[in-house]
Amino acid sequence: MNWAERVSPTVRSLPPSGIRRFFDIVAEMKGVVSLGVGEPDFITPWHIRESSIHGLHKGYTAYTSNFGLLELREEIARLVYNEADITYDPRREILITVGVSEGLDLAMRALLCPGDEVLVPEPCYVSYKACVTLAGGVPIPVPTSAANEFRVTVEQLAKLVTPCTKALLIGYPNNPTGAVMPKAELEKIARFAEQNDLVVIADEIYAKLTYEGEHTCFASLPGMRDRTILLNGFSKAYAMTGWRIGYALSNPDLIAAMTKIHQYTILCAPVMAQIAAIEALKKGEADVVKMVSEYNARRRFMLEGFRQIGLPCFEPKGAFYLFPSIAHTGIDSLRFAEELLKAEKVALVPGNAFGESGEGFVRCSYATSIAQLSEALERIGRFVRKLDCK
Ligand code: PLP
Repeated sequence: MNWAERVSPTVRSLPPSGIRRFFDIVAEMKGVVSLGVGEPDFITPWHIRESSIHGLHKGYTAYTSNFGLLELREEIARLVYNEADITYDPRREILITVGVSEGLDLAMRALLCPGDEVLVPEPCYVSYKACVTLAGGVPIPVPTSAANEFRVTVEQLAKLVTPCTKALLIGYPNNPTGAVMPKAELEKIARFAEQNDLVVIADEIYAKLTYEGEHTCFASLPGMRDRTILLNGFSKAYAMTGWRIGYALSNPDLIAAMTKIHQYTILCAPVMAQIAAIEALKKGEADVVKMVSEYNARRRFMLEGFRQIGLPCFEPKGAFYLFPSIAHTGIDSLRFAEELLKAEKVALVPGNAFGESGEGFVRCSYATSIAQLSEALERIGRFVRKLDCK
């Protein structure tokens, strides 16, 4: 029996994740300095872990409401009101999800009919296009470039919008480039969304990791609150990747549609993670400030380091990635990453894992110690110098 043939053609059509494939190789090797994974190197702050342990001691082990614990939804409503001045009703407009990952999946499945198109600025997080495809939609990549600091423009979107376009999926601060969007440019995108009657899915998981200027929440722009599905979570800012906890905010109809899928497939996010998330929102701000300041120091260190090595690098203003160009070396991003790994045991992610417009770049996560970053820079420098000599 050829079981592979039983697999749905849609699933078969998905490329293997460029990141996973690469890290399967890394996992087998010893002595590797990995700047590959997009994951905080910090452990979840102790008081957050402790709150969850207390919850378990008290016997909080059952399902919660499909929407999630009301107390958590109320805390999220308070946070978004304080930070972005938008009001969401915790009872009808907020859904607790299993990470932003589930939020992305639910948003796509709730919105898309077969053949609906979604504009996806690239380079982008590896799951975006897969989520659209799995929901029966067609992802339409919108290439951005280092020359424009990897910001998407209305002109680029206008070239690719069609009568089949249903949504726009944006993620700023951006993974993998670290790009942010100034408010004035987001306002233009908001007008474009309105004119073309698009739903905007805004993945703002790196919002708190904004180092220069202020993050603008897309839903806070005039007319955008009900048109936007705002996704956020705890993985990055609170160092809580393994807890699998996030949230979606939108108008009651879209949240009801997403909740319908969620209640048949997931039921609810894990209760112990929801309890920890309440503590994170109530008392975790100082931890976030500390971690963000550490990431910022590393960002500057690596930016300077790459420039000294001779790898041109656009200055990222958010997230925890740098996206240096390797185009001048004359080899493609996959070969660069593979040869660097073989020769110097440093793991970076080939830029083309994030879409075609990522070719010519590599992604470097700086969510690791300065000592590791410094070692990596030395090894990358040696590798690049040898390439230059060839
Ligand atoms: N969105 C972006 C842009 C990411 O980089 C990631 C993880 O790397 C996710 C979503 C997934 O987040 P979560 O852990 O909340 O599912």
